[in-house]
Amino acid sequence: MNHLWRKVSALLLGTIFSCFLVIGIANNTIAQQTPLTLETSLLTLEQVGDNIYALISDTDYPPDNENIAICNAGIVIGDDGVLVIDPFHNEALGNLLLSEVAKLTDLPVKYVLNTHYHFDHTGGNKAIKAQEILIIGRGTIREDMLVKNRESDPAPAVPSLIINDDSNIWLGDRVIELEEVAGHSGGTDVIAYIPDAKVLFVGDILFNQKFPYIADGDILAWEETLDYLSDKYADATIIPGHGEVGDRYDLDSLKGYLYELELMARKWQELGLSEEEAIASAGEIPKAYQNYRFQGLYPSNLKTAYQQITLKSAPNP
Ligand SMILES: [Zn+2]
Repeated sequence: MNHLWRKVSALLLGTIFSCFLVIGIANNTIAQQTPLTLETSLLTLEQVGDNIYALISDTDYPPDNENIAICNAGIVIGDDGVLVIDPFHNEALGNLLLSEVAKLTDLPVKYVLNTHYHFDHTGGNKAIKAQEILIIGRGTIREDMLVKNRESDPAPAVPSLIINDDSNIWLGDRVIELEEVAGHSGGTDVIAYIPDAKVLFVGDILFNQKFPYIADGDILAWEETLDYLSDKYADATIIPGHGEVGDRYDLDSLKGYLYELELMARKWQELGLSEEEAIASAGEIPKAYQNYRFQGLYPSNLKTAYQQITLKSAPNP
């Protein structure tokens, strides 16, 4: 079943990506004629700490054209250089990000961090590689970009520095703490904390007021990570991979959503429902989440919960 599900989710994902690509191609001519700006890419630059900025995307999914940023990015300026986080999904947006950095500082971009392997955060690596800037990722990110992103990003620029443990980046006297976490993307999730400003970039561990993409994750591990981060970074400003800048309460609210999915999936198990019956019984999006964006992901969230929890949890004695 697992194998089958992997196939089904790959197909579903492929369909979503294909729609996105078709829309992208249809709008390509317009996009090529118009120079990218934050406005056309639906991005807002926000200062989130002393010499720390986030570029926050205001799109739903899929976006209206290929040059609208899907995810958020980060810019951390130190004493002698800059760290950039998640350079969006294509070269043009990666270049837009670099040009925004140049407006903020004369210091060079020394490092780029990919918070995980998904193409919406790594496709812009091409712009970074072209400038010979060091790209950092975790674990199996190179293999995952080459194999799992093949359809959405056939010629990826993969990171050349791989961390396999918690690590620190120093920009002069400013330290950025990189920490490995679990839950979203099968062993490539890494978060970045700047202790002097209490700012935390969590990548897709947080989708803020948006349905999360969980088909590639682990619901139970993700819940644990959200609890852990909410405790550890209780007073931090938190920049999600998708959605507005937030804090620990936004971590708590995503945890609440995942926990509801978990309970629903355990109930399906008790009732002995088939996947089709389970999805049908879940019905509409619950009231609490009706304002969430990325609503197209809700049905696949239900399927993932069925696969990961209903099929694997032990029946009640
Ligand atoms: Zn993402």
